[in-house]
Amino acid sequence: MNSRFLPRLLAPLALAGLAACATGPGGLEIDRSITATGQNSRVEFIVLHYTNSATPRSLQLLSRGEVSAHYLVTDGDPPRVYQLVDENRRAWHAGVSQWRGRTWLNASSIGIEIVHQPFHPGAAPDDPGRWKPYAPAQIETVIQLVRDVAQRHEVKPENIVGHSDVAPQRKQDPGPAFPWRRLADEGLGRWYDPGVVAAWQDRLANRPLPSVAWYQARLAEVGYDVPRHGLLDPATRAALRAFQMHWRPELAEGDPDAGTAAVLLGVLGADPLRPGEERWAEPAGGKSY
Ligand SMILES: [Zn+2]
Repeated sequence: MNSRFLPRLLAPLALAGLAACATGPGGLEIDRSITATGQNSRVEFIVLHYTNSATPRSLQLLSRGEVSAHYLVTDGDPPRVYQLVDENRRAWHAGVSQWRGRTWLNASSIGIEIVHQPFHPGAAPDDPGRWKPYAPAQIETVIQLVRDVAQRHEVKPENIVGHSDVAPQRKQDPGPAFPWRRLADEGLGRWYDPGVVAAWQDRLANRPLPSVAWYQARLAEVGYDVPRHGLLDPATRAALRAFQMHWRPELAEGDPDAGTAAVLLGVLGADPLRPGEERWAEPAGGKSY
């Protein structure tokens, strides 16, 4: 090769090398020309909340205080989406939390707050009809946002949850009026086959209720942080109620009834027709509360 052409040949390579090097911490030259294939997003969970305040107060609380969220969806017409924290940074929305064995979910989640005041004004605290529905336009906006976040970070359906799921003893948002089923229809969240739940309902109809230990074991399998001592204590009731608010919202008062057992089996994908799945429905100790 004629040496006259060498500089012309090397020039693009030298330029590529220069582009890959940048000044990093402490003035170090960092070479970013190679990107590892073994990596994924730090975001594994999406946690949904309601603010229980109107938009101005919600914005103030979530941007100027000790709590925050990545996104806030207003109840305006049309709803507006604020981003208050960069997705690469930790927002302070979940607090002490646990889901599927993972704890302190602020580090590994995207938090979405929805401007919503959950109760009909003047409703009694024990009135099952006290929960106010969400505005359909707001839900459509939430769905669009959740879909976008879930796709970019490859969040699994079972990891799209509510604050009450990850902190059942402290929280009840986004509440039983939140349309989880509608989200699941869009592939955003875990759901069950209604036929399977109906079949389990038939099978469980004339039996004693499963033991508390049975409910605790099944709730833990779904992902809840729940005691395993077999007693219907406040923590177990809270987890049952959180499960009901998410998957069986028409009666979400924390009672371990047959309907909840059937829906638990449905969510876990237990097949009532397959031999061997029998163990799912056979409580070890019978009714024990
Ligand atoms: Zn919350």
